[in-house]
Amino acid sequence: MTVAVAIIGTGIAGLAAARYLRERGIACTLFDKSRGLGGRMATRRVDTLHFDHGAQFFTARSARFAALVAQWRADGQAAPWFDDRFVGTPGMSAPARAMLAGETVVGGCQVTALHRGPQGWSVATAAGPVDTPANGAFAAVLLAVPAPQARPLAAAAGADFPDFARAVYAPCWTLMLGFDASCGLAQDRIRRDEGAIAWIARNASKPGRAPDREAVVVQASPAWSRTHLEATPEAVAPLLLGEFAAATGVAAAPGFVAAHRWRYALVETPAGQPCLWDPALRLGACGDWCLDARVEAAFESGEALAAAAAATLGSG
Ligand SMILES: Cc1cc2nc3c(=O)[nH]c(=O)nc-3n(C[C@H](O)[C@H](O)[C@H](O)COP(=O)(O)OP(=O)(O)OC[C@H]3O[C@@H](n4cnc5c(N)ncnc54)[C@H](O)[C@@H]3O)c2cc1C
Repeated sequence: MTVAVAIIGTGIAGLAAARYLRERGIACTLFDKSRGLGGRMATRRVDTLHFDHGAQFFTARSARFAALVAQWRADGQAAPWFDDRFVGTPGMSAPARAMLAGETVVGGCQVTALHRGPQGWSVATAAGPVDTPANGAFAAVLLAVPAPQARPLAAAAGADFPDFARAVYAPCWTLMLGFDASCGLAQDRIRRDEGAIAWIARNASKPGRAPDREAVVVQASPAWSRTHLEATPEAVAPLLLGEFAAATGVAAAPGFVAAHRWRYALVETPAGQPCLWDPALRLGACGDWCLDARVEAAFESGEALAAAAAATLGSG
């Protein structure tokens, strides 16, 4: 029988793991609670407006990730933005979408439990076992989700990974503003070390974007985001809009305003291990929280976990 592995999470860590295993002849099924796949490498489309409301850019410093980014560039899925920073084209979700091609994916599926039976692992939601081929016979399970979401799933499945507790995330409230014409923002990117706002970017300043409408992404600082963590998007949007106007002097009224909360946005303290893997259980975890608050770190963690799993499964 072909070896099959379940991967929970279709962010870059899960996708990196799936790619690594597929290259070694191991079939993966990926599960994600969201219907919009790719995790925090995200693009939201609203009519003709496009917002990269998660990761703003990525670096490609390690040889393996640089090779993948070179492939994305050759295929038109990524381009340089500034300095050594790249973005997905035409949106940040494009590279993840490309990596999903050919994979077996179950979207809109929040995994709530993992069970180990005589034939292997099975994956379940609150509604019961997921009806997909190979479920019940997975040789391993890879959790590619933020540590606070992986920890209870792993613990209930019998895995004891103390390193989960080391990982700390900052939240991030993100404001998306759409203007019919230029809003008069003087700079394409603004990074701020103090105050409510940490980052502002004009989406049109990125390569491959349609320049006709002005889409602006505003990210609140970790401190501001923590203070307003449990507020509603409707309450946060006007507050952040006021902070944006005060910080930039932009007085134009946006035609579109929406706020999005990333509860687990940016890793402040990583676990300090490339991944967590229990070879006896054949269960492990990966993600940015293992190494650093970066797309590239999540990729490296996903590959590290896949390598550990492949070695255990005899395909290393
Ligand atoms: C606002 C913001 C700005 C950022 N800016 C940058 C930047 O400029 N540069 C940079 O390098 N990085 C940046 N990052 C960080 C970067 O986005 C992450 O490090 C990286 O994308 C994490 O990938 P991941 O695969 O580890 O996790 P994720 O992308 O979070 O993927 C996890 C996936 O698991 C799914 N999931 C969770 N629980 C379950 C469950 N129970 N069942 C099924 N699916 C589940 C989620 O839906 C998600 O799709 C930013 C992040 C945010 C939020």
